[in-house]
Amino acid sequence: MINIPKGTKDVLPTQSYKWQYIESAAREVARVYNLSEIRTPVFEHTELFRRGVGETTDVVGKEMYTFLDKGNRSITLKPEGTAGAVRLFIENGLSSQPSPVKTFYITPAFRYERPQSGRLREFHQFGIEIFGSPSPETDAEVIFAASSFLNKLKIKDVSLEINSIGCRICRNQYNQALKDYYRPHLDGVCETCRTRFETNPLRLLDCKEEDCKKIAQAAPKITDYLCPDCRAHFERLQDILTSANLPFKVNPRIVRGLDYYTRTVFEFVTDSIGAQGTVCGGGRYDGLVAQLGGPDTPAIGFAAGIERLMLLMDSVGAPFPDPPKISIYIAGMDDLTRLKSLEIAEQLRKNGVSCEIDHMNRSLKSQLKYADKLGAKYVAVIGSDELSSGIVNIKKMSDGSTASVKLQDICKYLKEEQL
Ligand code: ATP
Ligand code: MG
Repeated sequence: MINIPKGTKDVLPTQSYKWQYIESAAREVARVYNLSEIRTPVFEHTELFRRGVGETTDVVGKEMYTFLDKGNRSITLKPEGTAGAVRLFIENGLSSQPSPVKTFYITPAFRYERPQSGRLREFHQFGIEIFGSPSPETDAEVIFAASSFLNKLKIKDVSLEINSIGCRICRNQYNQALKDYYRPHLDGVCETCRTRFETNPLRLLDCKEEDCKKIAQAAPKITDYLCPDCRAHFERLQDILTSANLPFKVNPRIVRGLDYYTRTVFEFVTDSIGAQGTVCGGGRYDGLVAQLGGPDTPAIGFAAGIERLMLLMDSVGAPFPDPPKISIYIAGMDDLTRLKSLEIAEQLRKNGVSCEIDHMNRSLKSQLKYADKLGAKYVAVIGSDELSSGIVNIKKMSDGSTASVKLQDICKYLKEEQL
């Protein structure tokens, strides 16, 4: 027997309705925020992620599924959705469309990580990306969309943390200050952080090692180093969130895992699912489109991890809808009545009514047992009497009541019963 690869998960027939529920909430949010779906390939040229996500990130440095294909091209399974979305935007000339170009996606993503609760090697993201607007109003809209997605799923135990990591100008000064702070602490941080100190000091704040986290606590804050434009942008965003009554906390330690962010970054975090507490993260990436060869285009987005959301919903008891049940089970007794059941079932299905019939040549008794197991809301038994009279008793399983209905009116009856 060949097992599932480490860090991946099956979605079972009894569980998939939960996925559909979360995905339909995502699609509904996308609809009301006027976001159009995009789909990009599961794999891209490795170069896209090296340049788009950043050489010095954990994702590119340690976590990518990269391989040579038979044509000797370096290919990588997408570790996140933004780089592909940006490539799509550039390659298809979407910058010629009126701004902003508002997109969303639901996608699998692949990272070679140590699997643990909330951390998988294949996981799924609902993400949105808005291209073309530099304004803090757009930042707010992206945050509102994330928040309304979580609200729609009735997830309460999350809080919004925001930060600004400035632009190239303020970041330079801040990196200097960070290095000055870390220099005397270098013996106390992990090896990766010693590399980060040289290659990308901002990443020092993103380390998940306990010792490094402690040292990061007292590090200088980026918010004290913002240039006037970045400061004004950040203040305007806070004003909008405040006037919309969306509670938030400024957390100057948020830098996000990926390299491309500028100005606004944010996370929705929770304490309810252990260490992997970020269910949704996003931010502005004004330099990325140009960096990947497109026209200078500001952009902002977020991605929410669906598995983490699911863990969170289970742990805080956020309600999932009831699993779907079939409307009616139609039992037959012999060749002739089974044929009639089949014919009725097809007629009902054509009219959008879900139903089931016998596939296993079961006795009537075990058909009824099976119908009960399926949770059928109604059951009808077609016997020779029903064939000759053209009338059948439909039993409502919730209260045992029956109604006598003409065979050709079953659909009408069920629809009247609001199924
Ligand atoms: P973390 O700090 O937890 O490693 P990240 O900064 O690497 O997260 P992003 O790249 O911002 O995460 O991805 C957005 C969201 O995708 C995360 O907030 C999380 O919900 C989800 N996510 C990221 N990596 C994984 C993973 N390996 N397994 C499951 N979900 C993940
Ligand atoms: Mg990560």
